[in-house]
Amino acid sequence: MKRVYLDYAATTPCDPEVIKVMEPYFFEKFGNPSSIHSFGQVAKKAIEDARRATADFLGAKAEEIIFTSGGTESDNSALFGAAHALEKKGNHIITTVIEHHAVSEPAKFLKKLGFKVTFVKVNKSGLVDPGDIQKAITDKTILVSVMHANNEIGTIQPISEIGKITREAGVYFHSDAVQTVGHIPVKVDELNVDLLSLSAHKFYGPKGVGALYIRKGTRIENFLRGGDQERGRRASTHNTSGIAGLGKAIELCKAKMQEEAKFQARLRDKLIKEIPLRIPDVYLNGDPHKRLPNNVNYSIQYIEGESMLLNLDMLGIAASTGSACTSTSLEPSHVLLAIGLSHEIAHGSLRFSLGRWSKEEDIDYLLEHLPKIVEKLRAMSPLYRGKS
Ligand SMILES: *Cc1c(COP(=O)(O)O)cnc(C)c1O
Repeated sequence: MKRVYLDYAATTPCDPEVIKVMEPYFFEKFGNPSSIHSFGQVAKKAIEDARRATADFLGAKAEEIIFTSGGTESDNSALFGAAHALEKKGNHIITTVIEHHAVSEPAKFLKKLGFKVTFVKVNKSGLVDPGDIQKAITDKTILVSVMHANNEIGTIQPISEIGKITREAGVYFHSDAVQTVGHIPVKVDELNVDLLSLSAHKFYGPKGVGALYIRKGTRIENFLRGGDQERGRRASTHNTSGIAGLGKAIELCKAKMQEEAKFQARLRDKLIKEIPLRIPDVYLNGDPHKRLPNNVNYSIQYIEGESMLLNLDMLGIAASTGSACTSTSLEPSHVLLAIGLSHEIAHGSLRFSLGRWSKEEDIDYLLEHLPKIVEKLRAMSPLYRGKS
């Protein structure tokens, strides 16, 4: 059977070149990077090379990067770390209604601990208005966290403008850049961020490894304690192979990203244009222009996203109803509700996300089969039959 993977926003395959770089650190170069003998030093070198590659991608300094177990840990460390380091200064945190749960759940937990949290709204295309961030800032605000691009609808936020506002106000600014690093340029100085999260498995690296950028001078309390790795900022023995893989993956992305984004954006635009020509009553979610080059998200009225996913899967096509994290719950995505969709329409949404190995024929295969699936499901849908 033909297999078409259109779920790169959930995770990406590991690039074979990345696997090659990782391999020696399991047996031949297995040493603990904190050991001073030569076994340790060989492993330590791999980590420092990866740190330089990561810093280079971000336009940061190597000592501003710490390696973590992934995007979720980076986000949790940024929120809890900044909140606890600055709790004497203030107790107010600002974030948005469309963040990934790795940011919104720590924010909600901080609320339980006594912090005040403002969830800024977004417009219909999922954009945050920097003016709304400005208005929400008080003399008690210590941290603002706004994601760079949304994982479900692909909207890219005006991070640089928001960063100017937070800098002026003397407030720390964190951005979850898990969906952008490796796909579009992410330069910490242009974005005016103090903290930034990334995750290797979203850009052709291995799962279970990520990084947090911490601008020099930014104070955050340690999230993991019990060892002096990462110059005392993150305890636990390094995941040497994973970190080496992250380093290679980000290096490859730096070299290939521009070309890849151009190609993926062309396929994305083909899907965006063709879907409404072939299927009536569909709505594009997310911003038509400020959008990730690899993201397509459509609401298809009168039917359920889950039924469409199952039917697509039978044809070998992998897509998502919005977010892998919500696919086991019956509540529709908080992002789709936040941009104003009704529960019914949100339930009928599909995300297609492209990546390094996407081909034009994949898109054509989808465009051939999706209309048939929609037609079949609509014929069985009481919502659709009751429509006229
Ligand atoms: C995938 C993702 C995360 C979580 O990263 P993990 O490495 O899987 O923990 C966080 N934020 C966004 C926007 C993501 O897409």
